[in-house]
Amino acid sequence: MPSRGNMSILRPGIWLLTLVFGLLPALCPAQGSGVQLRTVVIDAGHGGHDPGAISKYSKLSEKQINLDLALRLGKRIEKEYPDVKVIYTRKTDRFVELAERGNIANRNHADLFISIHVNSAGSSAASGTETFVMGTDKSSSNMEVCKRENSVILLEDDYSTTYEGFDPNNPESYIIFNLMQNAHFEQSIAFASLVQQQFIKNGPIKKSRGVRQAPLMVLWRTTMPSVLVEVGFLSNASDRTTLNKEENRQKIADDLYKAFSSFKTKYDAEGGTPTVDEASLSPQEPKPEETVQQPAAPTGPHFEIQILASKKKLKNGSPELKGVTDYQCRFINGFYKYSVGNFASREEASRRLPEIRKQFSGAFVISVE
Ligand SMILES: [Zn+2]
Repeated sequence: MPSRGNMSILRPGIWLLTLVFGLLPALCPAQGSGVQLRTVVIDAGHGGHDPGAISKYSKLSEKQINLDLALRLGKRIEKEYPDVKVIYTRKTDRFVELAERGNIANRNHADLFISIHVNSAGSSAASGTETFVMGTDKSSSNMEVCKRENSVILLEDDYSTTYEGFDPNNPESYIIFNLMQNAHFEQSIAFASLVQQQFIKNGPIKKSRGVRQAPLMVLWRTTMPSVLVEVGFLSNASDRTTLNKEENRQKIADDLYKAFSSFKTKYDAEGGTPTVDEASLSPQEPKPEETVQQPAAPTGPHFEIQILASKKKLKNGSPELKGVTDYQCRFINGFYKYSVGNFASREEASRRLPEIRKQFSGAFVISVE
C-alpha cells in the first residue's frame, strides 16, 4: 500500500521531467540534432569535347586543371574523413551536361556541391580567385563568367528542352534567375567565404576577387549549399604559370580541403545551418572591362510579372521577397506591388509565369503603361 502511495506522488514528477526533456530538442534544434555533412559532390567543370578555357601559352586546358584539382580535393577528403561520401561528377576526361551535374548531387542527397573552374577574360590583366554562389547581386554581376560557363549547354544535344528555352547569350534569359536564390543561399555564402579566406591566407594565388553572386546554370537546381570556384585566370600570365605547376595545384586543393573541413565542423555543430561570417564578405566592384550594363528600368508600355503585394514596404532581403533583389516596386491603391521582368508581349510574360509560380504561387502577368 505505501509503495502505491509513493508511486502516485512520483508519477506526475516523472511525467513532467519527461515532458521537459522531451521538449528540449525542439527548443534547441541546432544542438546535437545529429544533422551532419555526410556527402559532398565535387564537380570538375567541362570535360570531353568541351575544354573550357584554353590558352596557347598553357600546356594545360581548363578541363584538365579542374579535374586534377577535383581529384586532389576528393582524395584528401576521403583520407581525412573516411565516413564522408565523396562523389565526383566525372573522374575522367568526359563530357557531362550542366543539368546532370546538379542532378547527380540531388539524386545522392549531397550536403555540399563544389564546382571547380578556371577563369578567363578578354583582358589579360584580370587575375585572382573568386567564388560564386547562385544569385543576382547587381554590384558584382559578371556576365562574362556567366556567358562562358553557361554557354557550355550549347554543346549539348537537346539544350533548349533541358533548359526551357534558356539562351546563355541573351541577357533577357537571365531574368528568370532573379527568382532562384534558394533556401541554401546563406550556407552557400558561408562556404564560399571560407574558400576565399583560405585562398587569401595560404593560396599560391592570393589576390581575391571575393565572394560573388551570379546566375550560373550548374548551381541552378541544386538542393544543397553550392558554389562555383574560379581558381585563377588562364588568360593571365602569372595565374597561368601558377596553375601549370603541380605543387601549386596541390596547395589549391589543400585550401579547398581546409575550407571544406571548417565548413563541416560548423555544419555538424550548428545542425546543418552554418552561419555566415560577415567579416569575410568583401564585395568588390567588377573591373571596368568586365562591367555589365544592367538593363535600364523598364520604360514605355510593357508587361511584368507581379509576385507580391504588401501593405507595408518590404526591405531588400526580407523573407517575403525570397531572395529576389531585381524587382520593380510601385505604390498603388494603398499597396506596395512587387513585380519582375520586362516583356514586350503578354505571351512572352506568360511563358515565364510557370517557372516564377514555383516560388510565388500567386504570381500573375500585369500590363504596365
Ligand atoms: Zn569553366
